[in-house]
Amino acid sequence: MNHFQRKRGELCCEDVPLSELAEEVGTPAYVYSQATLLRHARVFKSALRGLDILACFAVKSAPNLALLSLFAKEGFGFDIVSGGELFRALEAGGEAKKMVFSGVGKREDELQAALQAGILQFNCESEEELHQLSRAAVRRRSLAEVALRVNPDVDAKTHPYIATALASSKFGVPAARARKAYRLAASLPGLKIAGVACHIGSQIREVKPFVEAAGKLRELVLSLRADGHAIHRLDMGGGLGVPYGDGDAPASPQEYGEALVRALDGLDVKVLLEPGRLLVANAGVLLSRVLLRKEGQRRRQFVVVDAGMNDLLRPALYQAHHEIEPVGRPRRGAEIVDVVGPVCESADVLAKRRRLPPLHSGDLLVLRTAGAYGMAMASQYNARPRPAEVLVQGRSWRIIRARETYKDLIRGEST
Ligand SMILES: *Cc1c(COP(=O)(O)O)cnc(C)c1O
Repeated sequence: MNHFQRKRGELCCEDVPLSELAEEVGTPAYVYSQATLLRHARVFKSALRGLDILACFAVKSAPNLALLSLFAKEGFGFDIVSGGELFRALEAGGEAKKMVFSGVGKREDELQAALQAGILQFNCESEEELHQLSRAAVRRRSLAEVALRVNPDVDAKTHPYIATALASSKFGVPAARARKAYRLAASLPGLKIAGVACHIGSQIREVKPFVEAAGKLRELVLSLRADGHAIHRLDMGGGLGVPYGDGDAPASPQEYGEALVRALDGLDVKVLLEPGRLLVANAGVLLSRVLLRKEGQRRRQFVVVDAGMNDLLRPALYQAHHEIEPVGRPRRGAEIVDVVGPVCESADVLAKRRRLPPLHSGDLLVLRTAGAYGMAMASQYNARPRPAEVLVQGRSWRIIRARETYKDLIRGEST
């Protein structure tokens, strides 16, 4: 469910025609619907109401301050993976006491900043990190609450770049070593064991891998308690997928919620969740304009648009599918085209052999479901200023990130 609908033939975000935004802010631009974001935030929470939860929005999926601030006002905490994300989350009004710090490698200054802010929990991913965090905490004379991110070795059946719980993954501590790692954590000064964590991957379509992971972690919580550790939090990570318009729709938040409630029933833990994509993906689109048409060899048809892989990396990085549609009333007929960006890389293809209504120079189009890992991964490659971001609320809208200028491209450089 999202609020990008056609009105009198023309695609709108809530009550704002996207053509109006293209006129006012130019293209390419990311456009987000506030009503969609808030709806997703509330649906997520209500799907998990059978558990005592703290939902921590995964900042990396959509780090804009305005979006983070909406989640903070909805009572969300934040899952951060760097000092920069800690800074963003605090700037957006996030409460440190609702933040968890994930990631396989955290710098000393990042640990110090998080200790100084007083975050809820550090999700540590190795024995060596426990030592580093212990030293940092002792130096500050503070106590860091820790969970170990355990790799439950489940197959999340997603793209290999976003599967994180296979035995070959760099993430987490292997489940077989977990009890020993907890013994180590208990012996180190400055650390206080609080919970167990996992995150099994992203864009997961089925409930089964989550249930498997929950089952394994449940067992682990019980054996850790038997070992004498006070485990009162279980962080199940994020990862539930969204429909991108290719293949089967993923399980709904309700199915996911019901499965987790069943799997964790009676365990007596606070359940932390770290949703990212699920909350923001289809609340955002990338608005772009057709530059020109060209014919390649063997009559292959290219539609060249003003957004490229620097603006939306997902198709190039993961062969991800984004639905494309014209903003104006679609022309009659259909043709098979490649929609490509202007970047000087063969990977700069936004859609390959896609059936679309005829598109001409000057037409506006959108790439749907671009709210998560869209702007978050944008770069200035090819010296292309990054796009503007716009937040729509009903009939009104505002720029939540100005389009970069050429001056921005050279900020901090010298000749
Ligand atoms: C990326 C990430 C998430 C969010 O994943 P989604 O698939 O966007 O829900 C949550 N937790 C951790 C540790 C992550 O790295």
